[in-house]
Amino acid sequence: MDRVRKRYLGFTVGTLVAFFIILTAVYIVQIGIYERSHAETTRNQLIEVKKEVLHDTVNNMINNIDYSRIDLEKVQKERLDRYIYYFQTEDRIDSLINFLSNEDMNSEVLAIVVNETGDMVFKTDNSAGYEEYLINEELDEVFLDIRSTKIGDYTFYIGVLNETVKREVTNIIRFRIYNDIYFEDAYIWINEVLSYQGGDNYAIRVVHPNLKDTEGSFLSTKMEDIMGTTPYLTELDGIKEDGEVYFNYYFKRLETDDIAEKITYAKLYEEYDWIVAMGVYYDDLDGYLSTTSKLVESQTRDALIILSLTGLLLLIIGLIIFFKLERDYYAKSNVDLKEQIDTDELTKAKSRRAGMKRLQADFDRFISTGENVTVLLMDIDDFKMINDNYGHDAGDKVLMNLVDRINNGIRDSDTLYRWGGEEFLIVSRDGSIDGLQNFISKVLSLVEKSDCRIDNSSILVSTSIGATQFKKSDKSYDDLIKRADDALYQSKKQGKNRGTIII
Ligand code: GH3
Ligand code: MG
Ligand code: MG
Repeated sequence: MDRVRKRYLGFTVGTLVAFFIILTAVYIVQIGIYERSHAETTRNQLIEVKKEVLHDTVNNMINNIDYSRIDLEKVQKERLDRYIYYFQTEDRIDSLINFLSNEDMNSEVLAIVVNETGDMVFKTDNSAGYEEYLINEELDEVFLDIRSTKIGDYTFYIGVLNETVKREVTNIIRFRIYNDIYFEDAYIWINEVLSYQGGDNYAIRVVHPNLKDTEGSFLSTKMEDIMGTTPYLTELDGIKEDGEVYFNYYFKRLETDDIAEKITYAKLYEEYDWIVAMGVYYDDLDGYLSTTSKLVESQTRDALIILSLTGLLLLIIGLIIFFKLERDYYAKSNVDLKEQIDTDELTKAKSRRAGMKRLQADFDRFISTGENVTVLLMDIDDFKMINDNYGHDAGDKVLMNLVDRINNGIRDSDTLYRWGGEEFLIVSRDGSIDGLQNFISKVLSLVEKSDCRIDNSSILVSTSIGATQFKKSDKSYDDLIKRADDALYQSKKQGKNRGTIII
């Protein structure tokens, strides 16, 4: 391999290596950038979405609580109306009192019967402690509603406690929360605030699907999570301020004992002093993020692989084109160079070198096949005089003119070589002797007719010729040249402008 090729190959390999180094660097930087910025943005966006879902789910549950409360309040009030209606249609006091004591409604409706002197003649067990409220029909916050009716000398008082409705709402909502399934193990829980001042027993746990057996237990704002923060205090403070709050804390996962950080939304349902809350674990986000991150990572990697393969393909195509162009260039310049060294600079006749190669090939063929050629060695007559009389340039012109004339006059199968200064060689593939004399005459006349005009005077040119062919006894083509030279010498001696054949 020559130096140039080596250099190009070095350059190519270097480019390839650099290309892959750059690609690797781009890959690493790309992944780095993604991890730093995209992961953070995606995480924040996801948190925003989750916060929104938490907010909407909790608010939806609060609406459910409110609808249930309103519904059940209506049911209870209608129940009181139905009782009063029944009392008014039944005038026998005994059977009414009997009905009130038999009816298993102790837990729902409170009832008292008072006679005309104001003595309490009957009361249900559950009305103990509420007698004054009932008789005075005092709708304190403990009572949802109180009705009364006079039947004969007796007055019937019946009422329903707010607590009764609340207990029913709690049951409905608890059932609902236990059975609802939310995204990513999220769940709703409810605490009831007993004291907005906080402290021990500030609240009681009402519903907690994850820790059912702790329902009914008291909570303290002093409670610390594993990281030493006081989430109940944060929650209570937030709720006191805005009625709702987002906060973070550490808590046990659903159905496992793992502790993990949660983002939580809590909102106050004022009617019951309930804090309705819902949280989702952050590492669920991390799982999601790492999935998306892996996805993006693999997409980035695929894109880079495609990019590098495309780059590699382009490089290979480039190399193929490069080497082909280079080869073509070398081949062409070889041909050019060959043509150059096989052509005489001045006359554009074939060079002596080409002539020698030709004679060698012809000699080899003659030896192997016996196929002969005819050679005419020419030397321009008195060329020195032409140079002397007209100058060297004129001499050159004469030579050029002469070559043109001979090349135009001889057959395509005959070739003219410039053998020396003003010596030429014609090699003819025609190896017969018959036409040789005619061939010589033709060449002599072609030379004589070469019309070379210098300063309006035409220069007369003639040549002497020595003709010969290969002989069996020849050791090399030098023997043929020597014979031709001898023949040429004879032509000169005999007066020039003639040819001599030595076979
Ligand atoms: P002869 O008839 O015996 O051949 O006489 P001549 O004058 O031709 O003698 P010779 O062949 O010895 O001389 C050749 C001359 O040709 C000598 C040289 O100056 C001249 N010559 C050789 N090559 C060139 C050339 O390329 N251009 C010109 N102008 N002259 C050349
Ligand atoms: Mg000569
Ligand atoms: Mg001469």
